[in-house]
Amino acid sequence: MYRFAPSPTGDMHIGNLRVALFNYICAKQSKEKFIIRVEDTDKERNIEGKDQEILEILNLFGITYDQLIYQSDNLKFHRQLGSKLLMDGNAFSCFCSAKTLEEKREQAKKDKKAYRYDGVCKKLSDSEVIENENPFVVRIKEPSEKIEFTDLIKGDMKFEPKDIDDFVILRVDKTPTYNFACAIDDMLSNVSVIIRGEDHLSNTPKQELIRKYLGYNEKVKYAHLPIILNDSGKKMSKRDDESSVKWLLEEGFLPDTIINYLILIGNKTPTEIFSLDEAITWFDITKVSKNPAKFDITKLRQLNREHIKALDPLSLSKFIGYSSKDIGKLAKIYLEEASTINEIKVKIDTIFKTKTCDEFEQEFELLKVATKDLPYFKEFDEFKAYLGEKSGLKGKKFFKPLRSLLTGSDSGPNLSDIYPHIKNYLGEIIK
Ligand code: GLU
Repeated sequence: MYRFAPSPTGDMHIGNLRVALFNYICAKQSKEKFIIRVEDTDKERNIEGKDQEILEILNLFGITYDQLIYQSDNLKFHRQLGSKLLMDGNAFSCFCSAKTLEEKREQAKKDKKAYRYDGVCKKLSDSEVIENENPFVVRIKEPSEKIEFTDLIKGDMKFEPKDIDDFVILRVDKTPTYNFACAIDDMLSNVSVIIRGEDHLSNTPKQELIRKYLGYNEKVKYAHLPIILNDSGKKMSKRDDESSVKWLLEEGFLPDTIINYLILIGNKTPTEIFSLDEAITWFDITKVSKNPAKFDITKLRQLNREHIKALDPLSLSKFIGYSSKDIGKLAKIYLEEASTINEIKVKIDTIFKTKTCDEFEQEFELLKVATKDLPYFKEFDEFKAYLGEKSGLKGKKFFKPLRSLLTGSDSGPNLSDIYPHIKNYLGEIIK
């Protein structure tokens, strides 16, 4: 069983999409089930509607799943299992107030020591606990031995007990912390492989410990994916527009391009351009680089041009808001100077707008007059010869306004390449 566990607390980041994608691919390769678990237990950070937005994005990318779970539906299990850990002596009630803990944290800072919970409440007797009426959190007991696991990308990992600490599993209001809810939910769903971002690496021993105390013996495999860096070599953050999947889609990058790119970076692939279905036949999670992947928008643009080129003309035409094959073919000619759907759309829309030509204003008007009662010409050369004769214009005084009249621009692809695709729409174009 594989899972993708998004938090509905913000826009989907490309790092999250990469995690979803790799889980989906591995589940397909091993013919195992794949679930989506919306981690919605942090009520204060949840953003209304983000869960739906994430599901829509997955849908758009063709990432299908077998089951959808909301973490909040498992709250009763989190509480029950928290009580079990308390009763078995693997967890304890901690009455330390936030203020006390903050003071101790400050002191540790002053002493230049790493702060660790000092275990005061671990030593309380049963009667001291029962008689205490103050609010309390539940902390798990730090393990007596190292926690070890193997990561499919990073290799063997070992964590010392002190790095795990007596961490909180249930808050004062008895809602579960991320590590506790996550560990329980993965156990309840029998998740056997966890692929997620490396920012969760230090959480893994904690989650392993929770399941160990609960007597869960199934071995879970892990793959922690390296972070993605921006072009200045820093971790991509929400401030980098390109990190938002929604932004990339709105800019006109195709889902197929984004998928291709997220599999390509930090990886060795047999080809540079491929589809998701192709990647499923050769993708190997263990070959993903341990080093951070670098996000390069120039490369993404290049891939986008390739994927746009591969679209059938009618689909491309629809992407840019038209419905004819000719316009799709015309759009491909513009790939020389445009690399996103939006950029191409601007070019094509300009062709259909009312035009002017500042440099050769008079000639432009003459040319326009010459197009009155324009016969149909199959070939550009015939069209050109007819207009040249009718307008009496020659050389650049003819070609410049002609380009403006046909494309709305003073530079661009050869008119002879454009003409075959616009010849049936001249009535709408020349204005
Ligand atoms: N909800 C966590 C996140 O969005 C993912 C947790 C996990 O994959 O274990 O970062």
